[in-house]
Amino acid sequence: MNTPGNKAAKKAQQNAPARSAPGRPLPITWVQSAFHETAAPGSANWKVYDNHGRYLEYVCACGCGEWRNLPVKEGEKVQGAWHWDGNLTAPTIKPSIQHVRHEPDDCNWHGYVTNGQWVTV
Ligand SMILES: [Zn+2]
Repeated sequence: MNTPGNKAAKKAQQNAPARSAPGRPLPITWVQSAFHETAAPGSANWKVYDNHGRYLEYVCACGCGEWRNLPVKEGEKVQGAWHWDGNLTAPTIKPSIQHVRHEPDDCNWHGYVTNGQWVTV
């Protein structure tokens, strides 16, 4: 069937923001600031503070709209920061990232940033 309704539904699906799901990595979309409501899932930008190091500010890749700051450090894994490989455009960050559930409807997303992609576990 190719009714106008089906066409509209198909168009809406095509326009829906891409999200990461198991088996479906999502490339990071680099933006000026991930801290605004219109940023797409998986958007991110780097924040650098003189005394407090570097953060990846990002919008959750699952599509829930939550944003977070992830402290990263190049080189060895240190307490309080994730290990970052130093790549600014296609970073790999370890270990995995999990959104701690504060509210019952929080997403609890769990995955990795690998070669500039959000990889859902
Ligand atoms: Zn989420």
